[in-house]
Amino acid sequence: MMRTAAIYAERKLGHKTVAVLPVHYPREIFTAMDVHTVELWGPPGPPRGPDAGRIQAYACAVVRNALAFLASGGADAADAILFPHTCDSIQGLATLAPDFGGWGKPALRYLHPKGGDGPAARTFVRAELVHLADRLAELTGRPLALPRLAEAIRLHARIDRLRGEILSRRAFLGMDDRELYRLLRRGEFLAPGDHLAELAAAARGLGGERAQRGVPLMVTGYVPEPATILDSLASAGAFVAADDYAAVGRRVPLSPPADGGDPLDTLAAKAFTMPPCPTRGGDQDVRMEYLETLYRRSESAGLIVHIQKFCEPELFDVPAIRRRFARIGAPLLYLEGEMEASLSGQVVTRLEAFVEMVDAGRKAP
Ligand code: SF4
Repeated sequence: MMRTAAIYAERKLGHKTVAVLPVHYPREIFTAMDVHTVELWGPPGPPRGPDAGRIQAYACAVVRNALAFLASGGADAADAILFPHTCDSIQGLATLAPDFGGWGKPALRYLHPKGGDGPAARTFVRAELVHLADRLAELTGRPLALPRLAEAIRLHARIDRLRGEILSRRAFLGMDDRELYRLLRRGEFLAPGDHLAELAAAARGLGGERAQRGVPLMVTGYVPEPATILDSLASAGAFVAADDYAAVGRRVPLSPPADGGDPLDTLAAKAFTMPPCPTRGGDQDVRMEYLETLYRRSESAGLIVHIQKFCEPELFDVPAIRRRFARIGAPLLYLEGEMEASLSGQVVTRLEAFVEMVDAGRKAP
C-alpha cells in the first residue's frame, strides 16, 4: 500500500516509476532522470494469484511471488520494470513475464559486474549504465544530463553514508530492530530526498552511550522477511548488531564515491566499492574475511544465516560460512524462509533456544 501511495505521489509530480526486482542497480541514474523506483521483494505472504504456479516449485518464493504479483496487476501503477541480472531465477522471470504473459509494459535489464575490478570491468559497467540511461530516456522523453547525474551521486552518497553510520553504530541507537528496519527499508520506495530526511533524523539519535543491552547477533542473508523475525529476536532478548542482508547492509558501499570527474565513471567505480555479495559473484575468501571482520567489529556473539529456500547464490556460500564461523567458535543458526507472512512457531522456538544458548555462552566463565 505504501509503495503504491509513493507511486501516485510521484505521478502527481510528473515522474515515471519503475518497479525494480532485487538486488543491485544504479539508483543514481533513475534519480538523475526523475524516475522514481519502487523495489519488489516478493512481496511476502501467499502468492497474489495463480501465476506463481507457472514457475517451477523449486524456484525461490521471491520470483514466484513476483510473477503472481505482476500478473495479478499488483504493479500496474508502475510504468516499467527493471530486472537486474541477479541470478538465473530473475533472468528466467525477465523472459517469462514480458514474453509469455505477466507484464505488458517496458522491461529493462541491467547487468552488473560479476567479479573483481579492472579496466575491462569498468568499461563494461559504464556501457551498461549508458544503455540503461538510453532505455530510461525512451520512457521519459529526455536524455540523461551529466550534471544531474553528478548531483544524484552526491545525494545518494549522503544516504549511503547515513545508512552506513546507523548500521555500524547500531548498538548506540535507541530504536528497536523493527523500527530500524522499517526506516532502512523505506528507502526501497521513498523518494531519495524523503529517505535522506528520515535517516538524518534517526542518526541524530545516535548517542555516545550504548543503547542496546540485548544479546548482539549478526545476521547474514537475503531479506529480513518475514519482518516478525525481528520481533522474535527482540522478545528472545537479542538484537541485530551487524547486518549482512543483501537487501540492507550489502547495499551500503564501503567507501564514498570520488569527487569530480566523469559521473558515469564515478558510478561505474561505485560497483566495486560494495561489500561482497554472492549475487555479484566474486571471491569467496574475500567475502569470508569481510564477514568475520564485521562479526568481530560489531562484538556479535552469534550468527544467524537467514536465506531464501532454493536461492542458489546465497546457498553457494553457506558451507564456507559454516566452516569459517566454526573455526572461530561462533554459534550459528541456519534458517530458510519462503517469504512467509510470519515465522512459524517452530522457527520462533529455534530462535529462542539459540539466543538462550548464545547468552549462556557469553556469561559462562
Ligand atoms: S532469492 Fe536468490 S534465487 Fe531468488 S531471486 Fe533472489 S537471488 Fe535469485
